[in-house]
Amino acid sequence: MSFFDTKIEFLKGVGPQRGATLQTELRIFTYADLLQHYPFRYDDRSKIYSIAELHEHLPYVQVRGKLVHFGVVGEGGKKRMVAYVQDATGELELVWFRNAIKYVEKQLKIGEEYIVFGKPNLYNNSINVTHPEMDTIEEASRKISTLQPVYSSTEKLKNIGLDSKGISKLIYTLLQQLKEPIPETIPQYIMQRHGLIPKTTAVQLIHFPTNTDRLEQARYRLKFEELFYVQIRLISLKVNRKNSFAGHIFRTIPLVNEFYKHHLPFTLTDAQKKVIREIYSDMSSGKQMNRLLQGDVGSGKTMVAFICMLMAVDNNAQACLMAPTEILADQHLAGLKPYADALGINIAKLSGSSKKSERTRIHEQLLNGTLHLLVGTHALLEDVVQFKNLGLCIIDEQHRFGVAQRAKMWAKNKALPPHVLVMTATPIPRTLAMTLYGDLDLSVIDQMPAGRKPIQTVHRKDANRLAVFGFMRQEIQKGRQVYVVYPLIEENDKMALKDLMDGYESISRSFPDYQLSIVHGKMKAADKDYEMQRFIKKETQIMVATTVIEVGVNVPNASVMVIENAERFGLAQLHQLRGRVGRGAEQSYCILMTKDYLSTDGKVRISTMCETTNGFEIADVDLKLRGPGDLMGTQQSGILDLLITDLATDGDILKQARADAEELLLMDNTLSYPQHICIKQQIARQQQNSTNWARIS
Ligand code: ADP
Ligand code: MG
Repeated sequence: MSFFDTKIEFLKGVGPQRGATLQTELRIFTYADLLQHYPFRYDDRSKIYSIAELHEHLPYVQVRGKLVHFGVVGEGGKKRMVAYVQDATGELELVWFRNAIKYVEKQLKIGEEYIVFGKPNLYNNSINVTHPEMDTIEEASRKISTLQPVYSSTEKLKNIGLDSKGISKLIYTLLQQLKEPIPETIPQYIMQRHGLIPKTTAVQLIHFPTNTDRLEQARYRLKFEELFYVQIRLISLKVNRKNSFAGHIFRTIPLVNEFYKHHLPFTLTDAQKKVIREIYSDMSSGKQMNRLLQGDVGSGKTMVAFICMLMAVDNNAQACLMAPTEILADQHLAGLKPYADALGINIAKLSGSSKKSERTRIHEQLLNGTLHLLVGTHALLEDVVQFKNLGLCIIDEQHRFGVAQRAKMWAKNKALPPHVLVMTATPIPRTLAMTLYGDLDLSVIDQMPAGRKPIQTVHRKDANRLAVFGFMRQEIQKGRQVYVVYPLIEENDKMALKDLMDGYESISRSFPDYQLSIVHGKMKAADKDYEMQRFIKKETQIMVATTVIEVGVNVPNASVMVIENAERFGLAQLHQLRGRVGRGAEQSYCILMTKDYLSTDGKVRISTMCETTNGFEIADVDLKLRGPGDLMGTQQSGILDLLITDLATDGDILKQARADAEELLLMDNTLSYPQHICIKQQIARQQQNSTNWARIS
């Protein structure tokens, strides 16, 4: 066992209790984990403000003052610790709440001088600072540089003294004890190629930077390493699968031709034709296909999917199409069944709510091969679902499915793994796609079916509501249908549900002559389905819903999308929602309703939506605003656990790292060259780490 695998509790200043909390709160198990807990920002503490200079618009700043008084005030929930520091220009109030009170009582001394660091707030017409960091002058002078690292911590850790400063101290202690260099993870020749500094130096500098240039070098080195390993993992998945997995060969396509000539209801776009050719070329090659199909909402992915499924049936294989929700699975069935009937092939739907007898029948028919096509929800993944000969598995709206689920599908067929096509409408910026789905080949539908009019998007405030209702009425009188969508941030968000119900009431009062559907997450599947069907059959004119309708639902006659509290939605979601309209030939509209006051980010989101309908432009703005961690799909992906890289800005480093990883694996895909031993070892360490993780989650 190496020094770096030492359990964190053995570090001086940690012990069993803090050790346990570090594990559960920050997943820090070992010395190595602690060294990898990088600062998330640095504060430049070179300047000391005078108290009189402070105002609420300043960022985190420091003042120097003498502590003149402290004490607990208030009762119950309002109980807080209030302290005052003075300098030559005035007096500043400091406040701590809850458990921090005790900690402060033990730490602070009246009469002592402190460097107080925190964010000035305006409270009751005077400036105060809540939960400031307090350094004695002596402590402050021991700080190595003016660039102060800031670490993420949690309430629980802060209560046991492990705020950012406490964590910094631990890291300092650990770095002092370092007797051996941290194992190098990048082969020498690649380090030289990019002028990367050694791992040990980088880790020391990232925690205690001596100046901004050195910090930049450290960050570059660590980002490169992080991205390099993501790419090594993804590309080796891809390379090894290609080498080892033969695939079904789908070459003859009589059903496809018949469908194309006699049943296809429209002309395919050139983009649809292009991706169908790419997929056909994969599936007829003898190698197993793993392909990502990206196409903006409404670009016609379902038809591409169906034609590819026919290729499987044409070659005595079965195909399945998996959707993230029941509604979508129903819609796929309803849309595809008429075509299947016309071609004389069988299709069925399987979901969690399928009846027992129905299930049994489907299981049997899948096994004896009389059922050719299966659509459904993740119920398809269950082990009892076995096929006679599964040739193609299509996963719609990929962002709800991770690598693990894909692997389950590969295992469904005994002889040959099925071809896998994942389809997503989430426009993923290229940098992110390369990180998230780097193990897949990529096809893009970059063209909309002809005759679509771009959706007109406007921003309206609550004061305009009457006019908005008037507009809705106008459109309904033309025979169109309208969606009104409310955000439901969490399934159990009672307030949001109330918003929805209030909205429903007010709309039904304003439109007594029209029929309304309502769909939300708290309803039974059967009820949701009933309401959806009424809307699809045009029995209702207005659909009031939460975001359950977000993904995939297709009602071409709906031409107006009203999004309530639009400021509460992220860009990706707004774009998805807007994609529910504009699916027919009519001019469609999206109305973004917001409250009067919008945050800066909120304004950017709303104006981006009003200015463009291009999913990729929107995704780029989204990536810049929120960072990749919040982008749809990244949390579930399991691949993306980037500690230091910011994909919004580090695209160039990603490209370098990917090119190097690709070159290296082409040369040595088993990583057995001596200069690549360090990579093998690092991968082993990373695996060890994920085992640690699994133990607590
Ligand atoms: P998405 O890519 O969002 O899944 P869909 O497959 O639901 O989009 O297609 C959206 C609508 O466009 C559907 O009504 C579909 O029938 C129609 N459509 C698909 N391809 C074409 C085409 N080439 N020409 C005209 N309409 C098309
Ligand atoms: Mg779709």
